[in-house]
Amino acid sequence: MSQLQEKIKALAKDQSADIIAHRRHLHSNPELSFEEYKTAKYVAAELKAIGLQPEEGVAGTGVVAIIEGRNPEKRVVGLRADMDALPIFEANDVPYKSTVPGVMHACGHDVHTSSLLGTARILNQLKEEFEGTIKLVFQPAEEKAPGGASLMIKEGVLENPKPASMVGQHVAPNVPVGKIGFREGMYMASTDELYLTVRGKGGHAAAPHQLVDPVLMASHIIVALQQIISRNRNPANPAVLSFGRFIADGVTNVIPNEVTIQGTWRCMDEEWRADGLKRMKKMAENIAEAMGGSCEFEIVHGYPFLKNHPELTRRVRNSATDYMGAENVIDLDLWMAGEDFAFYSQVVDSCFYRLGTRNEERGIISGVHTPTFDIDESALEISTGLMSWLAISELGHAGYNA
Ligand SMILES: [Zn+2]
Ligand SMILES: [Zn+2]
Repeated sequence: MSQLQEKIKALAKDQSADIIAHRRHLHSNPELSFEEYKTAKYVAAELKAIGLQPEEGVAGTGVVAIIEGRNPEKRVVGLRADMDALPIFEANDVPYKSTVPGVMHACGHDVHTSSLLGTARILNQLKEEFEGTIKLVFQPAEEKAPGGASLMIKEGVLENPKPASMVGQHVAPNVPVGKIGFREGMYMASTDELYLTVRGKGGHAAAPHQLVDPVLMASHIIVALQQIISRNRNPANPAVLSFGRFIADGVTNVIPNEVTIQGTWRCMDEEWRADGLKRMKKMAENIAEAMGGSCEFEIVHGYPFLKNHPELTRRVRNSATDYMGAENVIDLDLWMAGEDFAFYSQVVDSCFYRLGTRNEERGIISGVHTPTFDIDESALEISTGLMSWLAISELGHAGYNA
């Protein structure tokens, strides 16, 4: 183990109680997407306390800070944390339980934020020992379209200085604490919301010949759209089409005038994402028309798919193996959920990895976005040190050409 790595481990250990305190403060005081005002103030105050000069108010509540090592122009690595909570009533009975009714850090963004504060402190203490620049990105609204990441990028977070790579982490309640997960290439899905209104002519169910039945039209549409997945999609290309809402608000003997349908379209290829949407819209409209009615097909675009740059991810994974031991580094499966870190991954080489937070013995097993989600807080000492080590290793990456 290198001397620098030993130093990082010691610093992470020294400050672990402080980082747990940060996490508990944030957990008790959650704020919804795009409303992270107190959180942003807290983050900025802590960054100032360790001697940095954060830029506040980026994309509303975002905070960005720079740590310059020796030869700061050499290479820039960006580290990202998200800060928002979810509209969920916390059901945990813990001393740091949410004090805001109906708002909860149920996706672990309190963990990401407090962890990056710890990493900032370590890297700032070690800035004479590395070359290059670290860019710390605390972003709003991962959970809500259009996503804080997209707005931060619009406001120039990936310029001046421009990161050669972005690294982010997410808690993993299905991965035991002490382990870290990686996946090269496609990792998480693009997410688009679909809103269909199928219109016909309602009336007495006993006289279908006088009506244009939107229930039957909508049923055909639902079945037909799945054939786009089975017949038009390259089988090697993952995609999901799911409809969770189908409202035909008639009764046994009344056919309604219209049916509304809502669904989600997820894939891991931006071209296929657009092509699939075009095909779906055309098919739904034409089926409705052929049956004498109409279909309004509305698309609300969400996040792109998350692509872990293969070479960067391999390097980061090797550094993690060096820090954690090979037995603690695992492979991740594809995950068809969305994540707005994907916006960074579409612009610069990016790596998004998972931090194990599960502890079965202590009953810490609930999934993210549930009222009983919690973490094993010993993950914080690991994550602060690990991200510091990964960032310094990546700054020192020899094959880099500016
Ligand atoms: Zn989430
Ligand atoms: Zn999340």
